[in-house]
Amino acid sequence: MSNTTVTYKCKNCDAPLHFNAEKQLFDCEFCLSEFTEEELNDSYSAEQAERIVRENEEFLREVNEYHCPTCGAEIITDKSTVSDYCYYCHNPVVMTDKVSGVMKPTKIIPFKFDKAAAKDRFFKFVKNKIFLPRDYFVDAQAEKISGVYYPFWVTDADADTDLTANGRVVRSWTSGNYRYTETKNYAVKRGGFIHFEDITTSAISTEDKKMLEGILPYPLDAYEDFSMPYLLGYMSKKRDLDRDKLCTEVRERMYGYTDSLLTDTARGYSCLDNKVVGMNIRHSKWEYALLPIWILTYNKKGRKGIKTYTYAMNGYTGKVYGELPVSIPKLLSLFFGIFIGLGALISVIWRFLL
Ligand SMILES: [Zn+2]
Ligand SMILES: [Zn+2]
Repeated sequence: MSNTTVTYKCKNCDAPLHFNAEKQLFDCEFCLSEFTEEELNDSYSAEQAERIVRENEEFLREVNEYHCPTCGAEIITDKSTVSDYCYYCHNPVVMTDKVSGVMKPTKIIPFKFDKAAAKDRFFKFVKNKIFLPRDYFVDAQAEKISGVYYPFWVTDADADTDLTANGRVVRSWTSGNYRYTETKNYAVKRGGFIHFEDITTSAISTEDKKMLEGILPYPLDAYEDFSMPYLLGYMSKKRDLDRDKLCTEVRERMYGYTDSLLTDTARGYSCLDNKVVGMNIRHSKWEYALLPIWILTYNKKGRKGIKTYTYAMNGYTGKVYGELPVSIPKLLSLFFGIFIGLGALISVIWRFLL
């Protein structure tokens, strides 16, 4: 399926618009603007839209799409990079004959270190972790570490913000036999312009949020304009969340940040009543970006079936998220070791006391 439908974008913030049939207007979920069709046609450049569609079609011809029949993972590679197993469940993958629903990224952070360096860092990470099963840190397991680009939406936005509240300052003191309490009320007003930079949101709905939070952030100056050669030799996960699905989430994050920033400037009050925080998005820019992750999974058979443990490393900063398998026999031997050790200590003290 080639993406030839032209979607309207919001004139104020660049987010995609939805047609609201009841009002017969185009709504923006992100900045809450509304437009008539004429208003949009005035500003909409058909050439610009055609160029985006054309570039996307070119991109689709340069990539392969794979599907994992075992775990359902969908992987994109460039035409010259062959993928034969799934980086997640280690089972064989099948090439899909038609690439569909794939969009050309606009930004990328290239991998900063190669597979050998990633393996090295992994071995350093597990070196002193004594509960790990023996087959976890052998070379054959570490060899499965894969460089995968994960899709993200990266949002910059400008907003006018304000806060109004009733601020109270309560003071009490004792004088002679009397205790005095003084309450002063203030009308609190705060306001300001906030620029949000690189709000990073995962473009995959099923992805492990804990893993992603564990390896974020990426430095602002590491982004490059997307270009095909960066994909060479790496896999890329297929995105399944369009930005219109994330408008509300990103807006809420911006709102939460605005609230805490403005509330923070009114710390001198004992309490703030009837607080109202406003945020008016003026402009925004959304980039579709691929960010590098080294990922190593380990499948361990347990009583409830196979459990997958994920070790992930930020492909730029090296920051690690690790869910580590525990070897029960090793854990038990350590436990008894401590117990015997304590026993020896107790008997020494005992004898000493006698
Ligand atoms: Zn908008
Ligand atoms: Zn799989």
